[in-house]
Amino acid sequence: MNYAGHNGKPIVDRVSTVDAARKIKGMRRVPVKRAIAHEVISLAYGFFTPLTGFMRKDEVDGVLTDMELPDGTLWSMPIVFDMSTANIKKLNLKEGDSVVLDYIGAPMAVFEIEEIYGYDLERMSEKTYGTTDTGHPGVKRTMAYADRFIGGGITLINKPVFNEPFKRYWFTPRQHADALSRKGWKHVVAHQTRNVPHTGHEALMKQAWFAANEDIPVDILNTGVLVNAIIGEKRIGDYIDEAILLAQDALRTNRYFRDEVHMVTFTLWDMRYAGPREAIFHAILRTNLGCTHHMFGRDHAGVGDFYGPYDAQNLLKQYRHKLSIKPVFLRENWYCPECSEITNSALCGHDSKAQRFSGSLIRSMLVDGVKPPEKMMRPEVLDLVTDSAAKYAQGSPFVNENYLKNRTPVFSLKQLEALEP
Ligand SMILES: [Zn+2]
Repeated sequence: MNYAGHNGKPIVDRVSTVDAARKIKGMRRVPVKRAIAHEVISLAYGFFTPLTGFMRKDEVDGVLTDMELPDGTLWSMPIVFDMSTANIKKLNLKEGDSVVLDYIGAPMAVFEIEEIYGYDLERMSEKTYGTTDTGHPGVKRTMAYADRFIGGGITLINKPVFNEPFKRYWFTPRQHADALSRKGWKHVVAHQTRNVPHTGHEALMKQAWFAANEDIPVDILNTGVLVNAIIGEKRIGDYIDEAILLAQDALRTNRYFRDEVHMVTFTLWDMRYAGPREAIFHAILRTNLGCTHHMFGRDHAGVGDFYGPYDAQNLLKQYRHKLSIKPVFLRENWYCPECSEITNSALCGHDSKAQRFSGSLIRSMLVDGVKPPEKMMRPEVLDLVTDSAAKYAQGSPFVNENYLKNRTPVFSLKQLEALEP
């Protein structure tokens, strides 16, 4: 199997679990937070191909200034490991050292420290997000970084064990490639989501399927929709992760999509809401999952009114020649009582009659225990939202403090002793 990713680069594989316990004996241990742990996993399995570790200063500079890595490969988001000067001193970390990254008390990866550096966080914010307004969640995150960054390669020595229901949706990039090849899909269109699907999303995915199928005859189905959910940092009021995955999957298990054309997986990534730059990142990420097409709707990866509705599409258009994936550009869907259907706002001209899908309306209905109408949300999807709320979040399908404190972790790590042969 030829595992090729972004810009034709081989899918990165920095996983080495053989004899791990012995190899790390005596090495310094550095505990990391969840955000870093997630990125260690994504780096090691090649989700961020061609990156093999956290960025050095020249890499960050190139990405922020020219949107490229030192070899000219398109890259849009800084991937950095931050640590305070005080902590670096306490742990006595120096360039050239190798240390073990620990997560929730278990060894996870070896980190080869190449460079310890400072960076102007305002510049990082301005370049990544186009603003330094801390009302932007990505800017807030960036401004909260510690005062030093550590660049260097990582090697995963302890594979994460995913818990249910995440386990059945976890595929590494290589496993994605294998699964897509088993399905015989020649074209695969990625659908980025962090939502429970309403019928407007469903129609978008179907429109994207036709766009991605291009000129392939349809007697045998060789095009698929890969719904790749983003699982990472949760904000109060987000849908719970379990509901997102199970409800997306319900569209296929209830035949709104055939088995032959639909699959649900996820990637560990904290949404930055960087709009245009995050759209480029999503395109790269899904190239690494074996997708040939990527759907981009209105205000992709945006937040508030920081970006224009088609800024992301326009940046993708500009960098299209450096992408190894075809963007599929869509406008929003709405329900039109004149057309009596869910239709795309690019096509239906009954603007004044159109009923727009409102995530906040659906949300307030669910909070109040009101069933959204079937035209808005499939009953089976709604059932799964209700079921997962009961099973995983004490009744609420939306993230609250209680869920954040008591949720089942997405994955666990084995203890060091369990790594011994
Ligand atoms: Zn209409």
